[in-house]
Amino acid sequence: MHPVPIATTKRLADYAAIIGDRRYEELRALAKAAAGRSMLHINATAYGGGVAEILQNLVPLLRDAGVDAHWAVLDAPPAFYDITKKIHNALQGMELDLSEQEKELFQEVARENAAQLTDADVILAHDPQAVALRHFAKDPRRATWVWRCHIDLTTAHQPVWSFLRPFVEEHDASIWTMPEFVRPDLKQKVLIQAPTIDPLSLKNQDMPVSAARAIVRRWGLDIERPILVQVSRFDPWKDPLGVIDAYRLVKVEVPGVQLVMIGSLADDDPEGQEYLDRTRAHAHGDPDVFLFTNLDGVKDQEVNAFQRAATVVVQKSLREGFGLVVAEALWKGVPVVAGKVGGIVIQIQDEVSGFLVTSVEEAAKCTLELLKDPALRRGMADAGRERVRDKFLITRDLRDQLDLVSSLAAPTGRAS
Ligand code: UDP
Repeated sequence: MHPVPIATTKRLADYAAIIGDRRYEELRALAKAAAGRSMLHINATAYGGGVAEILQNLVPLLRDAGVDAHWAVLDAPPAFYDITKKIHNALQGMELDLSEQEKELFQEVARENAAQLTDADVILAHDPQAVALRHFAKDPRRATWVWRCHIDLTTAHQPVWSFLRPFVEEHDASIWTMPEFVRPDLKQKVLIQAPTIDPLSLKNQDMPVSAARAIVRRWGLDIERPILVQVSRFDPWKDPLGVIDAYRLVKVEVPGVQLVMIGSLADDDPEGQEYLDRTRAHAHGDPDVFLFTNLDGVKDQEVNAFQRAATVVVQKSLREGFGLVVAEALWKGVPVVAGKVGGIVIQIQDEVSGFLVTSVEEAAKCTLELLKDPALRRGMADAGRERVRDKFLITRDLRDQLDLVSSLAAPTGRAS
């Protein structure tokens, strides 16, 4: 594994105005209790997807709070990511027969990476990719180990879960997005903590509407016409083809509507390019469908602009761990039409802060309702923003992590 350089500095004090004095003082007190402890986060990729997004913001904030926080990513050959993507799909319900060779490679990568572990009071391993590290750690008891699962395991393919479960249970605790995600057969201390977004990151920080519109115009959009936006890896579970189908139904009634789909090609997602190609083919050269990736130069600031310039944000997932993009859009005051799956259901209160849908037709119907009713859009957007402020801002994650570090970690020095 190798360390991810933490280039940004963040100041907890900058968040006080957003979260209010009471929450800020509570954070300061927790920071005092956790100060001086060390923490190492380990995941599969430094770029692309929700976990990387969270860590790049959370680690600097933990540092400002006084925790000696670090972030490392695994070193692994491409074949490992093919296996972990399959495991990810199986945990979301697909059938999978993992071969003995695949299981061996999965463990071999964990063994090699575990040999490079650095000391920390608390080690937080994220998702299946990092679940076996503790098993191969030379002296696992030198740290408190926690596994954080960002995936919805309610329909997990049992043989794959049975393979992973012993690795999970070796940890001192595991963290889950929702109680419903926790496997009933898991024997372990369990914590429930939903992921969060950083309101001051480049992706979410305030941006005048005029600036957002100027950026979007530069990418070829007509800002006088309605814009639907989905920001997601190109992945079957994000249903990019279904999004295009829903857009087509909307277009029958609102011919001017445009659709933007933005998808980063993540380092640990070998299916990305293939799904991008399929999505492009499905769009049949429609000039009102725009497909962009990070490789085109659509990065955090552009994502920020597109989400703000959207008339409606769509997140038509068929399975979802949490769906950070939903919180990102709600925080920006944009109403969201999203799949009624995974952690999306704790972000959107149906018909209050957005619409939860289960089909292409329903997605189209709810989108049309929003497109035709500016007052409904405003009302839902306001409700959504307040819900995010209350539950899904990074300061809530920071609070949980500080609590974890001070309650689970042994006094400083244990790991040295
Ligand atoms: N994202 C991005 N550019 C893209 C696609 C996604 O920056 O082209 C970001 C998105 O804004 C969000 C994260 O990647 O912060 C995706 O997290 P989410 O929880 O929605 O989905 P995951 O990829 O983890 O399944």
